[in-house]
Amino acid sequence: MSAVERSSFTIDLGAVRRNAATLLRAAGEAELWAVVKAEGYGHGAADVSRAALDAGASALCVATLPEALHLRAALHEARIIVMCPVSDREVGEARAAHLELVAADGRVPEGLRVHLKLDTGMGRWGLSELPAPTHDVVGVMSHLAVAESDPDFTRTQIERFRAATAGLAGITHHIANSAATLRYPEAAFDAVRCGIALYGISPFGTDPGADGLEPALRWDSSLALVKRLAPGESTGYGRRFVAEQPTWIGIVPVGYADGFRRDMTGTEVLVAGERRRVVGTISMDALAVELDRKLPVGTPVTLVGDGVLIEEHARVAETIGYEIATGLNTRSGRARRVARNG
Ligand SMILES: *Cc1c(COP(=O)(O)O)cnc(C)c1O
Repeated sequence: MSAVERSSFTIDLGAVRRNAATLLRAAGEAELWAVVKAEGYGHGAADVSRAALDAGASALCVATLPEALHLRAALHEARIIVMCPVSDREVGEARAAHLELVAADGRVPEGLRVHLKLDTGMGRWGLSELPAPTHDVVGVMSHLAVAESDPDFTRTQIERFRAATAGLAGITHHIANSAATLRYPEAAFDAVRCGIALYGISPFGTDPGADGLEPALRWDSSLALVKRLAPGESTGYGRRFVAEQPTWIGIVPVGYADGFRRDMTGTEVLVAGERRRVVGTISMDALAVELDRKLPVGTPVTLVGDGVLIEEHARVAETIGYEIATGLNTRSGRARRVARNG
């Protein structure tokens, strides 16, 4: 990384492949479908898709039609399923691009592969009763509301799904997300739809290593400025960090516009390989870390990676890893994004 670069994201596609293999083992006989919505949870949808397909995934799932069309341009052959409802006008575009759609209200689109979505307790999109499948229907699905936290309700949803779909042979039954794939073998049915775990982020907000998952993303920067605050001096907007004693601080040229959220003050990053606390108000383009000594400008800073987990930052921000990952500004050119095999 050169001195003028503010930060860089690196995606380890080898880790994505190994996570896919781990999920395939957990899924038993079921197929693995890679969920790559929101630009692959910030990791780059096309790169992650290729890695997941290489490792044995058999379809890709996105949220919206524009996401699917974008992915189709990069991957001509892959099965791509659009999970959110699309407008009538979009059905024609989906058909032309050989996409698959989900029917979650009474209307079942024609002339392309369709999955019927049953509401078993998510209380969002989904049919309360399944219509008789037309010849376009290739799958029946549902979505779990609390697979990471509530075994009783999750088992109820799985059982409702099993009972409502038992009579439907010859089509793919699918309900499991990452958390269910890792914790409920009985939820695997014919295919599992995994997103977060593919990226090596824990659906449970805990250490992904405990489930054999490897984080795929790292985020590196360096100290752009090092200065000593005298007692009573502060750094940043709002004067939220005031030195009580002479204090060395480093300024890292990364801020909330890059996805390092304002509510992550207090989280830890690595400076020269040692954990240091982020102090003061995080600005749009910069943040401050408290140092224990003077360090040279250019000293490496790891914001995510080498044991600094997205899950830790999420805990500080009182949110989930999903929101931190999808909020990383990996696409705007503020940071350099590098995909690497491994
Ligand atoms: C996002 C999504 C998934 C993937 O969930 P993860 O927890 O990231 O594995 C699966 N199914 C549907 C319908 C989704 O919207």
